[in-house]
Amino acid sequence: MKKANKLLVMAAAMALAACTLTACGGGSKGDTLTFGTNAEFPPFEYIASDGVVGEFNGIDMAIAKQIADENGMAIAVENMEFDSLLIALQNGQIDAVIAGMTATDERRETVDFSTPYYTATQVMIVREDSDIATAADMADKKICVVQGYTGEVCVQDMGYSYEAFKKGTEAVMELTNGKCDVVVIDSATAQKYVSDNEGLKIVEDPSAFESEEYAIAVQKGNTELLDKINKTIEKMLADGTINELAVKYTEEATAE
Ligand code: GLN
Repeated sequence: MKKANKLLVMAAAMALAACTLTACGGGSKGDTLTFGTNAEFPPFEYIASDGVVGEFNGIDMAIAKQIADENGMAIAVENMEFDSLLIALQNGQIDAVIAGMTATDERRETVDFSTPYYTATQVMIVREDSDIATAADMADKKICVVQGYTGEVCVQDMGYSYEAFKKGTEAVMELTNGKCDVVVIDSATAQKYVSDNEGLKIVEDPSAFESEEYAIAVQKGNTELLDKINKTIEKMLADGTINELAVKYTEEATAE
């Protein structure tokens, strides 16, 4: 807990510093492209001492950096709660959202999404001795999700009661402490949590959880930015860069 707090303070200080250097300080690199994210979602975005953009690291951060670079723009990253990202986008506080965000029909009502760059699915994290084998087995169990994630929507749609946490790490802590029986969360992030915590395993149920596509969100009608983003994403998909990034960051995340 103490260490986490310290990291947060450090991150805030570094974010301020980054802000003075780029977005708010009037850098000399021309326009700044400001991405909003929630750096609590490894391997897509997390805080590291040597990130691709300041202290921000992960697959999404590398993609964001390349989008800015290829368009001759400076990059800034604003870290906020996942739930606040689309509001910040609509307010114009940020130009785009890159946050392992699933392009859902509901979200499409308020924002536009780029070409999808990653396919994921919800999975269940359970303790190794759990008898949960399918999504239906969650019916009489204590379920934890992260607030505002598609995992919450899935569990809601299944009609189960659940408890929602602000962070994935908090939900997983409930599970390791025996206070809940299952955490429903995105596949790649689940792998990271299982490798970080002993005694957990992943249970998949493709018939219950549809596949989801991650995409970058921009303000509705911002075709100028969307075209730039799509050009880079399509190139990174075609030349295998995104695939390489996914392998690299997933390996790094699960290696420790
Ligand atoms: N893919 C999930 C969603 O869009 C979770 C994203 C995230 O936590 N960053 O809700």
